[in-house]
Amino acid sequence: MTEAVREIPLSRPWLDEREEELVLEVLRSGRLSLGPWIDRFEEQVAERVGAPYAAALSSGTAGLHLLCKIAELGTGDEVITSPLSFVSSANCFILEGATPVFADVDPVTLNLDPAAVEAAITERTRAIVPVDMFGLPCELDELRTIADRNGLALIEDACESLGAEYRGRPLGAHGPSAVFAFYPNKQMATGEGGIVTTHSEDEWQLLRSLRNQGRSYDGGGGWFHHVRVGMNYRWTDIQAAIGLAQLEKLDRILELREAAAARYGELLEDVGGVETPFAGDGDHKRSWFVYVVKLDADLDRAAVMDALRREGVATAEYVPCIHLQPYMQERYRFAAGLCPVAEEVSRRTLALPFFTQIEASDQHRVVEVLSAAVANAA
Ligand SMILES: *Cc1c(COP(=O)(O)O)cnc(C)c1O
Repeated sequence: MTEAVREIPLSRPWLDEREEELVLEVLRSGRLSLGPWIDRFEEQVAERVGAPYAAALSSGTAGLHLLCKIAELGTGDEVITSPLSFVSSANCFILEGATPVFADVDPVTLNLDPAAVEAAITERTRAIVPVDMFGLPCELDELRTIADRNGLALIEDACESLGAEYRGRPLGAHGPSAVFAFYPNKQMATGEGGIVTTHSEDEWQLLRSLRNQGRSYDGGGGWFHHVRVGMNYRWTDIQAAIGLAQLEKLDRILELREAAAARYGELLEDVGGVETPFAGDGDHKRSWFVYVVKLDADLDRAAVMDALRREGVATAEYVPCIHLQPYMQERYRFAAGLCPVAEEVSRRTLALPFFTQIEASDQHRVVEVLSAAVANAA
């Protein structure tokens, strides 16, 4: 019998006694939803990112969807977004009836190229949904100028980017409403969850009403009094307790992830055929979400990934282009060639195991296995 190889997972949340302790406190309080833990979490996130208000929701997708509802995006409207993202960043306005328009990305930052956004604007354009992909801030100032000049809403998908900074200030502080998410592979994990940070008190109150079946938030009317059509996008105090414990160690989480990324960078320096991700610069401080490398064009990515998996090293294509997803091609007739830069990146990139507590010895093993796989796939 062959010896079992030790698996190195793609991601894993960092949970310890503190999360257990706070969750137990919530359970013992008997108040599982709409309780004080959510308020406390919202206050702390708002303060952390430098926004006056924050509303927690059941997921990042829920937050993006409510912002699209509040912007009144609907049938006949076009919304410009990135093809190199998770499907939520387009689905959030498709759910409201608006049409996706994909602008290409910059080959280095992998974020929306402002010139491509500008070129995609038509008379029907109503909004831009930029994504801070893989934890790297998008070109917020340029996109904001374009949005302001054309009277467009700007909804920032920062779901992968809690802790990132643009031009010296955290994402969330800059003005546009931003959405962060807490699925277990994100920097901060609560199981499920998301939060919208906003600089508008009216928008904040609307978010609180819309997430809770359209109930009013001025306290009037009681539980069965509904002032608008809303959803059940409520979060729970159990998740908020996990979130509060995660917030306590967020600085450490970000530090450890940055150190792990730097270690991969050093280890991969001399590995031919593998390009490491852009680490950021003075204007863009990355919050490390995943570690995605790009293989040389002549390498067989599928063979490299198979070789990694055979050795117990988890990997994934990161990420397929949204416009080439089956439902997108069917519904809108999008085809390959629409966004050549994004398509080329997404054909050649793969994610390596990356999480807060990844051990240096495991990173060494990942890189050893990867270099051997790349040498064989050449
Ligand atoms: C994680 C993520 C979301 C939100 O995901 P949920 O699972 O709904 O919390 C949205 N956009 C991007 C780019 C993401 O990575």
